Amino acid sequence: TGTLYLVPTPIGNLDDMTFRAVKTLQAVDLIAAEDTRNTQKLLNHFDIKTKQISFHEHNTQARIPELLARLQNGEAIAQVSDAGMPSISDPGKELVKAAIEAGIPVVPLPGANAALTALIASGITPQPFLFYGFLPRKASEQTAALEGLADQPEAVLFYESPYRVAKTLRAMQAVFGERQAVLARELTKKFEEFIRGSLTELIDYAEASARGEFVIIVAPGAPKPAAVSTLPLKAQVQAKITAG
Ligand code: SAM
Repeated sequence: TGTLYLVPTPIGNLDDMTFRAVKTLQAVDLIAAEDTRNTQKLLNHFDIKTKQISFHEHNTQARIPELLARLQNGEAIAQVSDAGMPSISDPGKELVKAAIEAGIPVVPLPGANAALTALIASGITPQPFLFYGFLPRKASEQTAALEGLADQPEAVLFYESPYRVAKTLRAMQAVFGERQAVLARELTKKFEEFIRGSLTELIDYAEASARGEFVIIVAPGAPKPAAVSTLPLKAQVQAKITAG
C-alpha cells in the first residue's frame, strides 16, 4: 500500500516551509489540496511539479473513496490545507480516519500552526491549554459553547475570522466577565503583533482596528471561591479539634 502524508504549510511566511515538507511534496504522486490555486503558488515558489487534486470540506466524502483506492494501489499522497496543519480547523480528519480504518500508513509532518505559535509568545501560562478553534457562529450556540468553557481551568485558544473578532470578544466578556486575554495578530507576517490585556482592553482595540488574522487566547478565570475556601476551613476545624 501507499502512504498518506499530512503536510503543514506556512501560515504567512514562506520561509516556514520545512525542508522535509518540500521534499515530501516533491516526492509524492499526488497532492490533495484544500485550494489547488492557492497551493499552486506555494508549489511554484519551491519549484515543485507534483500534480494536485482538490480536497476541501465540500467534496471530502466524494473524494475519500478515490483517494483510498489510489493509496491502496501503492500511491503516496500528501494532504495539505491552505495554511498550517491539515485537520486543525481545516479539512483532513475524515481522510485520516478512513486511511487508518483501511490500514494505510498515515505520516504526519510537524510544521507551522497558528495556535501554538500564538500560545508560546502570549505570556499566558501555556499549560494546561485547551484548543477550541472556531466558535459556532449562531449566537445561541456560541453562548452555550462559551458557557461550557467558563469554568475550565485551562487557557483557551480560539480561531476567528478578522470580521468577527470584536463581536466574539464581546460575547466572551458577556459570559466570562473580565479576563486577561491575548490577540495574536498576523503571525509570521510583516505586521505581526501581540495585544495583551483585559477583555475590555482587547474589545477597545478590536473595535478601533482589527485587520488581519487573529488567534484569541483567554486566560483561565480565578478558581471558584467555594473550591478554595473549603480546604482551609476544614483544616481550621481540624486544628481546633486537635487543640481540644
Ligand atoms: N490549519 C491552520 C493552523 O494549523 O493553524 C488553521 C486554519 S483556520 C481555517 C484559519 C484561522 O487560523 C484564522 O481565522 C486565524 O484565526 C488563524 N490563523 C491562521 N493564520 C494566522 C496568522 N498568520 N496569524 C494569526 N492567526 C492565524
